[in-house]
Formats: sequence, C-alpha cells, structure tokens
Amino acid sequence: MAVAIQNLTTRLNLTGRGWGRGLDWTLGRERDPWSGGYRISFSSEVKSELSGLIPARTCCQLAELSGVFYSTRGRLIQTGNGNAAYFSLLRNSVARKVVRLSRSLAQVDAKYHAERHAKRTAFFIEVPLPAALEPAFTLPAARALPTKPCDRKNFFRGFFLGCGSVNAPSTRYHLELVAPTLGWATVLLCLLHEAQVRAGVVERAGQHVVYVKDAEGIVRCLQLMGGNRAVMEFENVRVVRDVRAQVNRRLNFETANIDKTIGSAMRQVEAIRKLDEDQGLETLPPSLREMARRRTENPELNLSELATLMNLSKSAVNHRLRRLVEISETGAEVSKTASR
Ligand SMILES: [Zn+2]
Repeated sequence: MAVAIQNLTTRLNLTGRGWGRGLDWTLGRERDPWSGGYRISFSSEVKSELSGLIPARTCCQLAELSGVFYSTRGRLIQTGNGNAAYFSLLRNSVARKVVRLSRSLAQVDAKYHAERHAKRTAFFIEVPLPAALEPAFTLPAARALPTKPCDRKNFFRGFFLGCGSVNAPSTRYHLELVAPTLGWATVLLCLLHEAQVRAGVVERAGQHVVYVKDAEGIVRCLQLMGGNRAVMEFENVRVVRDVRAQVNRRLNFETANIDKTIGSAMRQVEAIRKLDEDQGLETLPPSLREMARRRTENPELNLSELATLMNLSKSAVNHRLRRLVEISETGAEVSKTASR
C-alpha cells in the first residue's frame, strides 16, 4: 500500500501540480477535432446534470459514492491515518461530485489532482474513509447492491456516472454501462430488470457491456437517476422524431394519391386523343368539347382544380370526363351522346 502512495506522489511531482483547490475543472472537456471548439455530447450534458444532484440523505450519498467507486474500479489504499478510497476518473464533473459527496458524507476533504495526457485529462481523488464507511467499499459485486430503493437509485446514478453513456435521442436509441466485471454486469441487469427496463449484455473487447436499446427503457433509466432535464430533452426529440415519421407516412400517402390523379388524367387525355382521331372533337356538344380541351391542356390538374378553372362543380367535371372516356371507348354511342 505504501507503494500506491509512492506512485501517487511521483505522479504529482511529474506534473508539477500539488494537491489543492486551485484545480482547473474545465480541463476535462474534449476538443472537437473538426471545429476546434469544445464538443458537448448528449452524454456529457446528461452527466453534468446528474453530477449536480447531491442526495440529501447520508445513506443515499454513500450509495452513490460507492457506485462511482465500483464502476471506475476504485481501489482502497492505506494512508498515514487509516484507509482511503482512491478514484481515477476521466470526467471533471464526476470528479467534482466525488469531492462534494465525500465532504458532506464523511466531513473529509478529498485530495484531488488532475493530470493532462495527450487527448484527455485524468482526475485522481483520494477520499480518507472513516472506519464506519470502509465496509461499503470492500464488498464483492454480488453483495454490493444496496437494499433500500432510495439507495439503489443513487447507486445506479453513481454507476452510470462512472461507466455509462447515452446516445442523443436524435440518433440510434442506445444507453450502455461498461461493467468492470461479469459479476457487475449481472448485478446491473438485476437492477434494471427490477426497474422494468429491458436490458441486455454483450461482450465487447473483453468487457461486459450492459445496454438498453428502446426509448422507453432509456427514459426510465434517466428518470431513475433523477435526470429530469435529460428526460425532457429526450422526450422532446422523440416527439419530433415521431411526428416526422408520421409526416413521412402522410407524404408517402399523398404521393400515392398524386400518382393516382396523374394516372387517371393520363387515361383521360389518351381517351380524348383517340376520340379526336376517330371522329373529331367537333362532333361533340360544346360542353364536352370544352371539357376535352381543358383536360388536354391541363393534364396535371386534379378534379377540384379543373372544376375551379372551369367554374363548374367537381361532380360536373367528373361526369363530363367520364362521358368523354365512355364515348372514346364505345364510338357507337357518339351521335346519341352528341345530340343530348
Ligand atoms: Zn437512501
């Protein structure tokens, strides 16, 4: 254990930054390689919101802190006076939360330190543990899940903050937790099952990833963790998505109708052409001759539009067009029809 402290000290000396309060918490943001600006993903937004929530009760605070601890493979280290929980984190908002939780939970000031690597910043936090809290940080996965519902929620939130992520609702519905071990994946599946969330587990690069792939399940998870803003944003985007899907369905339907309109107009135009060829349009009564001309000139118009154009009722237009097609198909009735 003394080795761990030694490593810690070495790391401090390497970066030339001591423990302290002057830490720049903005270091954890990621640079967007395309725009050069800071990229704020939906996952980051959700985690920022969840990091800002500090549970009121001590039991819940302990549950959440241990959730972050186990999900990030935290270790217990020996210090000059007793043991400390040692966290390595990759997100500044979560690091800040660990510091705040330990302050209100154990009235201890955590030692923290940030280390900048090429791509991202790592945060190392050492929380001195009062003897009474120690057992909560030494449990095997199978027994680490708290029993009280309030604590389970906070434990889950801590766990998500440590190893979870969620896609923006505008993309593929996907929430996942990269469990530290298969045992932890099983524990998470149980927890989600109890919360009526359908979840699965998949092995990816030797790690066990617990995932939720349906919108209801993801909303349920966000609710469970108390991410009200995230739930609202998720639901808003989801509504827009649903409406867009409806509009698309409707557009397809209308396109089909337009095809139908054009189809029948083409049949009518063709019938009129044939009629003209067979017997000449001049043999028709003026009303039908006018109709034939208008239809031929405006094949793209539907019945209502033709009716407006000719200042007639829709049914009159429909009737005249049907007559034209009829006459064209049965040339024999021409003179009779024409006389009427
Ligand atoms: Zn509680």
